[in-house]
Amino acid sequence: MQQNLLYDNDLDLHTLIAKNRFGTFFGVPQTLFDEVWQNLTASEGNSVVYISMEIGADPDVFHPIKDRLIDLERTDSMDSTLKQFTKKLFNGPEKIPCYGGGLGVLAGDTLKSFADCRIPVVAVSLLYRHGYFSQIVDSKLGQISQSVTWDPGKTPGLYLLRDPDNPKEPLQINIPFYNEYDQETLVSAQVWMKMEVNHSLDFFVPELLLDYSLEENPTPIRDAAGILYDSKSPIIKATQRRMLGTGILPVLQELGITSNTLHLNEQHGVVVALQLIAEELQTTLKNSDLTLASDEQILAAADKVARKLVYTIHTPVKAGHDRFDKSVYAGISHKSCHHILELLAHDPDSPHSYNFTTLAMRVNRTANSVSRLHRDVTHKQFPESAKKISAITNGVHHLTWISDARAEVFDSFSQLDNWRENPGVFKNAQILQNDSRFRTYLRRAWEKDSSTLYDYLNKMLLQHRNQMSSTWIDPPNYYSSLIDADHQLNPAIFTIGFARRFSTYKRADLIFDNMDALCSILVENKWPVNFLFAGKAHPADEPGKSVIKLILDYQEELHTKSQGLANLIFIPNYDMQIAKLMVAGVHTWLNNPKRPLEASGTSGMKAAMNGVPNFSIMDGWWVEGYHNGATGWKFGHEGSVDEADLSESPDSLLYAEDSASFYQTLPEVLQTFYESDSRARFLDKAIMNLCLNIPIFNTHRMAAEYLQKYNLNLPSSVQTRMDNFAALYNSNL
Ligand SMILES: *Cc1c(COP(=O)(O)O)cnc(C)c1O
Repeated sequence: MQQNLLYDNDLDLHTLIAKNRFGTFFGVPQTLFDEVWQNLTASEGNSVVYISMEIGADPDVFHPIKDRLIDLERTDSMDSTLKQFTKKLFNGPEKIPCYGGGLGVLAGDTLKSFADCRIPVVAVSLLYRHGYFSQIVDSKLGQISQSVTWDPGKTPGLYLLRDPDNPKEPLQINIPFYNEYDQETLVSAQVWMKMEVNHSLDFFVPELLLDYSLEENPTPIRDAAGILYDSKSPIIKATQRRMLGTGILPVLQELGITSNTLHLNEQHGVVVALQLIAEELQTTLKNSDLTLASDEQILAAADKVARKLVYTIHTPVKAGHDRFDKSVYAGISHKSCHHILELLAHDPDSPHSYNFTTLAMRVNRTANSVSRLHRDVTHKQFPESAKKISAITNGVHHLTWISDARAEVFDSFSQLDNWRENPGVFKNAQILQNDSRFRTYLRRAWEKDSSTLYDYLNKMLLQHRNQMSSTWIDPPNYYSSLIDADHQLNPAIFTIGFARRFSTYKRADLIFDNMDALCSILVENKWPVNFLFAGKAHPADEPGKSVIKLILDYQEELHTKSQGLANLIFIPNYDMQIAKLMVAGVHTWLNNPKRPLEASGTSGMKAAMNGVPNFSIMDGWWVEGYHNGATGWKFGHEGSVDEADLSESPDSLLYAEDSASFYQTLPEVLQTFYESDSRARFLDKAIMNLCLNIPIFNTHRMAAEYLQKYNLNLPSSVQTRMDNFAALYNSNL
């Protein structure tokens, strides 16, 4: 079988080159490439288009091809095409910087699981020439955002698709944009393809990244093609959404992709629904002027289009729902759209805006929230759509987030055989609960990951100390003024990790709300603790940025009041690599959003994959992952939720109440870690995370639950495997 051949150490790299009309690609054999492509272009349309503003899949965190090639570097026997590919793979410093946070990382993890599970999916997103932004942190100024430049042409694994009729030229798709006088301008996009090749190298999911930054495009378009979530002006934001949404059908058509199901990962790409409705009306009205369509005709077309769309809503927070002033959106779209939007994109809060969440919620056949609690909240926010909204709790890609040290442990126990293929295997970790060899191995792997994290931290702090005199940046860590060769941070100290986007509802500064209360717990018991924080705030989010500044301002006070027992370290420029270091190396993962505003949260799941317990507010996924305390600790306000709880105003953020609850539970956490007779209970929690949470919070299970909404016709072996993953959990209880 082909699969076995690929596992063979004598793998001939030349077999990993595939061609089609659009280019030459490295990573999979021709037969496999053709099989995947045929599936996507088959006339019966048996595949899915996954649409996302951002995709985060960092090759330095997960790269199955590179992993295989490291022991296969035999350049002498390579022909020139192959040499080119491998040279780029190993020497290219470039990687795609087009993700901002949780939504993009979830998209990447989801696509990787689709590939592992051999589900025919193609993703569509945008390519941003300046990525998101790079974060510099200065202790006096707080966050400074620096623009990123990168060269897609030099990025390994990224291919500019060629025009089949003129192979020297790139493929271009043309998309009409309009001005306020309804005059048409044709705008062009190139198409870059990345392949998410699975871990057994026997399937892939193509990602199509639309690149509008072409010389010949008007300046406003090129501006909008620069930076993910650029919010310099409402028009740039609206243009970005339209670039994604209107690019989808033309690119699919150009490539011959026939998918019958379109999955909107958030509403950002929902303009595709407008396009489909317009196409539908064109048929109904036999090409006469679309502006003549009646309300009934539009609603009927919308119902028909809805049958193709699946929609995942990711947040109850209003800022996450796109709304555009009517005149702004009218200024870039065809006038026939305005009537459609009037009917379908009503904004409950503002008669002058179109609300794209309303549109996405209206035009789909099924919608889902990203946790059970979020489903209940979404039902209250959209009562008229409640019937079609179910829960599919998020997951993370276990192969991406389990550290190498932990993986080595799992590989050493036959009870966990096949864990890479089937995350459900971790149910067997329960059998290992009392196996002293397993406990020792797991503890050592954890210590190893902590050391790796601390090596990174100490190096960073020393670098910050030295940089004090050499740059204009004031280092973002008070501890860099204290560190020297003899005063480095120690990985045996209890370490709490907190890393995510900085946004006021996530309350990063919550646990420092009463510094005296916090420090007296530590001082009375002589408990040392290191608090590690990381995360970016959107450059336009002033309140979010001020929380970063507060965290920096607390550092010295914490150190002094705790009599040197506690340190608060900020790691700048959070990304997937830092995330992976942190979730595996800390002892406990902290999450303290204002309930119920964190719809899911995924970083805590990454910690759980490594057996790291969470200490969290009962919000998002943790309501489902807590298991009565078997896997970690909870604190803060609970109870039923209603519309009033959705407020983000500063006086409704429950700082006093929830921080007091944190101080109440903290001694139990620290005691479990530090006191020798309870230390075993700490490891018990780690093992319970493996056996209770990995089988649930992985993207294979999540993909299987999505599959139940897609109506694909799959080979029975694939279907059976997915049915088994779906049986691991039912998000909808
Ligand atoms: C996982 C991840 C996130 C999302 O974390 P949440 O807990 O969902 O907020 C954001 N950024 C990066 C780099 C991540 O890896």
